[in-house]
This record gives sequence, C-alpha cells and structure tokens, in this order.
Amino acid sequence: MPISATDADALDRADPLHSFRADFDLPEGVIYLDGNSLGALPRATAERMHTVVTQEWGHDLIRSWNAHNWIDAPTRVGDKIAQLIGAGPGEVVVADSTSVNLFKVLSAALQINQGRSVILSEPGNFPNDLYIAQGLQALSGGRVELRIVERERLAESIDEDVAVLMLTHVHYKTAAMHDMSALTGLAHSRGALAVWDLSHSAGAVHVDLEAAQADFAVGCGYKYLNGGPGSPAYLYVARRHQASAVSPIAGWLGHKQSFEFVDEYQPAAGIERYLAGAHPILGICALEVGVDLMLRAAPATLYAKSKQLCTLFAELAQQRCGIYGVESVLAADSTSRGSHVSLRHPHAYSIMQALIARGVIGDFRAPDILRFGLTPLYVGFRDVWDAVDILADVLRTNVWQLPKFQQRHRVT
Ligand SMILES: *Cc1c(COP(=O)(O)O)cnc(C)c1O
Repeated sequence: MPISATDADALDRADPLHSFRADFDLPEGVIYLDGNSLGALPRATAERMHTVVTQEWGHDLIRSWNAHNWIDAPTRVGDKIAQLIGAGPGEVVVADSTSVNLFKVLSAALQINQGRSVILSEPGNFPNDLYIAQGLQALSGGRVELRIVERERLAESIDEDVAVLMLTHVHYKTAAMHDMSALTGLAHSRGALAVWDLSHSAGAVHVDLEAAQADFAVGCGYKYLNGGPGSPAYLYVARRHQASAVSPIAGWLGHKQSFEFVDEYQPAAGIERYLAGAHPILGICALEVGVDLMLRAAPATLYAKSKQLCTLFAELAQQRCGIYGVESVLAADSTSRGSHVSLRHPHAYSIMQALIARGVIGDFRAPDILRFGLTPLYVGFRDVWDAVDILADVLRTNVWQLPKFQQRHRVT
C-alpha cells in the first residue's frame, strides 16, 4: 500500500530536523531536490555577507586580515568541517576548488609513495577526478599512470605498482557508497595510500576519516554544505602525513613565514602548507554559515533521515512511475548508498525540463539519468511525496514531449 500525502505530513511532523527548513530561504512553489549540485541558501548568509562586505571589507579594509582574523579563516572553517567528517583539528583546510585540492593531495600521495607510480580508480568516477589524474600523468612525463578498473575488481587490483587509490566515496550518479574503512585498510596492507573525494558525502552520510585511517580527502563546499555557488572546497591530510609531503602549488600563504617575503619557498609546518594564494574571504565566510548550520544537526539523525527519504522516494517512484519505464538505479542496500536517488529513462533530459517547469528541481546526468538530491536538512517527506506525484503526472500526460522541453541548455 503506497503511503498517502497525509502519512507524509505525519512523518514531517515527527521529524526532529523539520525546523531546519525555516533556516533556508527557499522560494515558494519550489521543491528543491538539487542540493547535491548547489545547496540552498541559508537565511543567515545574506546578513553575514552584508557585514563582511560593508563592515569588514568596506570599512575596516586591509585591517580585517588581523581585526577579523581573515588570515585564519581557512583553518577555522577547516576545523569545523573536520567535525563533520571525523577528522581532528589541524587536519582540514578550506581552499581553492575540489579539483585543485585533488591535484594537491594526489601529488602529495605520490611524493610519499615514491617507489610506486599508479593512481588506481574506477571508470565512471566523477570525470573531473579522472581528468585531474590524467593531468598529473601528463605533467609527470609518463612516470605516473592512471589505471582504471571496474569497481568489482578494485580490491584485487591494488598491487605493488599502486601508489594511491583514488575514489569518490558516494558515486555522483548511482549513489553507491564505497566501504571506506575496508578499502583503505586493504590499500594500506598492500603498501598503497587512499585519497577519498567526499563531495557527495559530507553533510549527507556518515564519514569518519580517522576511524577509516584515510590518508587524504577532498570535498566540495557548494553541495550539502550550502556554501554557495563556486564556494571554496576543503582538503584533509592525516596528521601523520603532514610533514612528509609538500603542495605542488607552493604559494606564499602556504609558506612558513609568508610575511617575511623571502625568495626561497619553505612550507608551513602543518596543513597550512596546502594553501597557495590569498584566501577567498567572501566565499569562506559564506561557507562558514552553511557549515555552522550543519553542525547544529545531530549527525546520526541526519543520516537516518537521508536513508528514510531515499527509501521513500525510490519506493514511491517504483510504485507510481514504474509503468512509464522509469527504473531506479539505487543500490538495494540502504547502508551502502548516499543521499540521492537516480532514475533511468531514455528521455530523462526532457522529463527533467518538464519537472523543473512544474517546480520540482532535480538534475539530468548524461545520458539517461534523472537525479534527485534528498538533502536531509531541508527536504521533507511531503516534498518527496509531491515530487513523485508531479513526476507521475508529467509521465502520464507526456507533457515532456513538448518542443520547449527538448532544447538542451549548456548546464544540465
Ligand atoms: C561536485 C564534485 C566536485 C567538484 O569539484 P570542484 O572543482 O569543486 O567544482 C569534485 N568531485 C566530485 C566527486 C564532485 O561530485
């Protein structure tokens, strides 16, 4: 028996995270299921931005580097993100984009594991991460090799050539989640290091880098952490590795004594050595608002709700949309998946355009995926119910066949 809209309302009333919805500035009439691409706007962000821009920048000017401690913003917010991913103080720093951070930590892992030259990953990983590894390979003049093997063969493929295992914890399309502890342990037992991309994990699923003994990690600020478009990202380097490698981008704010202005680069002692240029203060301050909000939610409650939302969405989609050829690509085991649900349909692009026109915002991932991010902080059970109801209507009426829904935009 499918659950009713009234049942969904009851689930919302019983939800301990229900009040967080009011902390976000979501437009009327929109069901936002794309927080895994661009998180929603926290209400407190605009005011914080106003203060940073008018007071700290406009009035206090350059004095703010000291007066408002801009200089420590990357480590201050890094320490807060550390609490969300099971890292310790001084192990996480906010900087650059995830892409650039991945370049930095992959390079560090290769420095530490010098006798080996292979970066091992899987096909269909977020392509960006494969591109970054390909860039490193090209830069190394052929010394470094990116080796890609199917997910099922990853474990057996960690041989004596593998320097580093590079994986995304939660897959951006299927939401399948790797066993971080098991794979990291296996990598270590075979002399390799592990780099984890947490872009679809932090703030959505349980992550404990310390328990997993992870070596390096990177992650995104603009998805579940609600840091805003192009928000700076973060990187994690386990304390035991911090003195053993340097950033390949040896910039002045990663220097031991930035303000001595000496000619020779000397890396800062700790995680700060992974900083390069001037900190993106506006971006970091916006990210901090999102992270502070996330820190107010009990992690276990967050992950439990994420699972419930995904299960409900997948079940309702199956019950109500299965007859229209929509197929779930979700892993059956709810303990090994992230916080989004992907559905497959040959006309996924047009269907998503028609859904967006009806106020249900998800995204399309080529070639045939409708992806719905179910962010536990601000998505409710009734949202899920209504979204599937609208999806069923779009499919039943074939409204997605209208010419206006066929036109491809640059960003999907
Ligand atoms: C979103 C995402 C990124 C983002 O990279 P940026 O350089 O910060 O834009 C990286 N990796 C994965 C797996 C992602 O999902």
